[in-house]
Amino acid sequence: MNFPRERTALAEVMAFLFSKGWAPGTGGNFSIVVGEGADRRWVMSPSGIEKGSVAPSDLIVLDRELNVIEGTGKPSAEALLHVYIAESFGARSILHVHSVWNTLLSRRFLKDGHLYLEGYEMLKVIGSIKTHETRIAVPIVPNSQDMPSLVETLKAKLGDEPPVPAFLLAGHGLYTWGDSLAEAKRHVEGLEFLFEVEAREQSWGTHAGG
Ligand SMILES: [Zn+2]
Repeated sequence: MNFPRERTALAEVMAFLFSKGWAPGTGGNFSIVVGEGADRRWVMSPSGIEKGSVAPSDLIVLDRELNVIEGTGKPSAEALLHVYIAESFGARSILHVHSVWNTLLSRRFLKDGHLYLEGYEMLKVIGSIKTHETRIAVPIVPNSQDMPSLVETLKAKLGDEPPVPAFLLAGHGLYTWGDSLAEAKRHVEGLEFLFEVEAREQSWGTHAGG
C-alpha cells in the first residue's frame, strides 16, 4: 500500500470533518496531491462511502488522469474539480464539505455572486490575512451536475487568482484548499466558523452591516 502517511492523515481529517456534521450522508470529498507533473498522484476519498469511519486502506490512489491505480472504490464525479483546483492554484490538498451553514449562505447570496465576510478575527485563518479589519469575498457559483461545464464556470469566476482559497457551490457546499492537508483543514474550520456566525447574526436581524 503506497502513501501510508498521507492515507492515515486524510482518513483522520475526514473523520474529524464528519464528526463536526460537515459531511453527512456520504457527502463531501477529500484529497491530497502527491508528486509533481506526470508523477502526480491523488490520495482521495472514494465515492459513496460514509466519511466518519474510513480506514486508510479504504482510500483510493489515482494517477494524474484520474485512473484508479490502488483500491477498489471509484472517484467522485467531482474529482474533476480537484484537478482544476490543483492545476490552477497549486493546491496540495482539497477538502469539500456539505454543511448546513454553507448551504444556507450559498443559496441566499448566489444572486450577489459572493459571500462577503468582514471584521472577524477568524478571517486571519486565511494565511495572507493579518488583521480583522478586512473584508473577504467568497465566490459563489450555481451548482451543476455537469462537471466540465462547472469547471468552465469556475474558471470564468475565479480567474488565475481567486480572492480566497475557497468557493461555494450554491445549495451544495464549500470547496477549500491549501499548501498542505493541515492548511486546508484550517481553512475548513475557520470558514465554517465564519459561516455559522454570519448566518446566525443575519437571522437575528442584527447584522453589523444593517
Ligand atoms: Zn459535494
